Amino acid sequence: MSEPASETGADVFDVVVVGAGPAGLTAGIYASRGRLKTAILERNMAGGQIALTDLVENYPGFPEGISGFDLSQKMKEQAEKFGAEMREIEGVSELRSDSEGRYVVVTDRGEIHARAVILAPGVEPRRSGIPGEAEFIGRGVSWCATCDGALYRGKTVAVIGGGDSAVEEGMFLTKFAEKVYLVHRRDELRAAPIAQERAFANPKFEFVWDSIPRQIDGAEMVEALEVENVKTGEGRSLPVNGVFMYIGQIPNTAWLKDTVELDEYGYIVTDDLLRTELPGVFACGDAHANPLKQIVMAVGEGALAAVQVERYLDALEGPQEGAKDAAGEGAAAAGTQR
Ligand code: NAP
Repeated sequence: MSEPASETGADVFDVVVVGAGPAGLTAGIYASRGRLKTAILERNMAGGQIALTDLVENYPGFPEGISGFDLSQKMKEQAEKFGAEMREIEGVSELRSDSEGRYVVVTDRGEIHARAVILAPGVEPRRSGIPGEAEFIGRGVSWCATCDGALYRGKTVAVIGGGDSAVEEGMFLTKFAEKVYLVHRRDELRAAPIAQERAFANPKFEFVWDSIPRQIDGAEMVEALEVENVKTGEGRSLPVNGVFMYIGQIPNTAWLKDTVELDEYGYIVTDDLLRTELPGVFACGDAHANPLKQIVMAVGEGALAAVQVERYLDALEGPQEGAKDAAGEGAAAAGTQR
């Protein structure tokens, strides 16, 4: 692909990928392997949510499981191997068009020009907003068992939520903690059956059903979690040293609300080919309104988004005989390569 400088003299990328979770990294692998000049921007470290996951057991090819951190590092390595420019700790705050019909991606370090953009900003844990939650961050309140679990060796913790994250991360915490209360607002879990079976068989779990958290108490550090039974109205104080919140996720899309269509929950709306209503802007991964929040889904969407970018840029340029053959890979081929 040609790489003309913008009128400001800045480098123009063929595609800028916003977010370096599995979706963004896969988009980066496919785009850079398709010989597109590719930048991947990530406000934290590469990996997104999976980098904080102890063990990924349902990603094909790893029958023994693989740590989320290792998997994301391998994806990053693979994108860089094909030439993607990885920019970590560079957050994006705005996306707008420039006078040349390209896009300007505004980051906390400046502006980047791109002919196409792939949005893969991911999600972040939802907060409960209960008293004590904000006050005790770093002093007993956490959203990351993988990061903080080892601090709770021999202690008692509470995990809030009944989904895959709560049950799997709660299970991880049983490696360290003496006891794990799992506080769920209903009397059955949402998590996958295999995760439930393991949790029910683990003697370190105590399930606190039909209950919601009301308040986190303590002096310097967390000392107790107050919960309320939603059926009886009865209160109970759980003596815990830590509280891990897994009550769902919210998409990192607030900065896009005036730029692309979002659904009522803030997820990016696209058509089946991952096109937003802005030409040349595609979306993929957990922040995209899709029905399956899984790594396999994210990587599939990342690949599709990158192939769509190739086709979009090819259509913009018109036929260029031989140009792509020299690189050995064309847009059509990119759709069929393995
Ligand atoms: P989730 O599936 O949305 O589950 C959130 C849990 O928190 C639900 O049990 C929900 O209760 C509860 N909850 C929500 N709001 C609450 C509130 N205000 N107070 C108390 N409880 C509240 O979220 P997740 O577990 O983070 O998973 C997100 C997505 O990632 C899911 O699609 C999940 O399958 C996927 N994931 C997959 C894996 C894996 O495949 N290994 C691992 C982690 C996550 P209700 O059940 O009553 O709604």
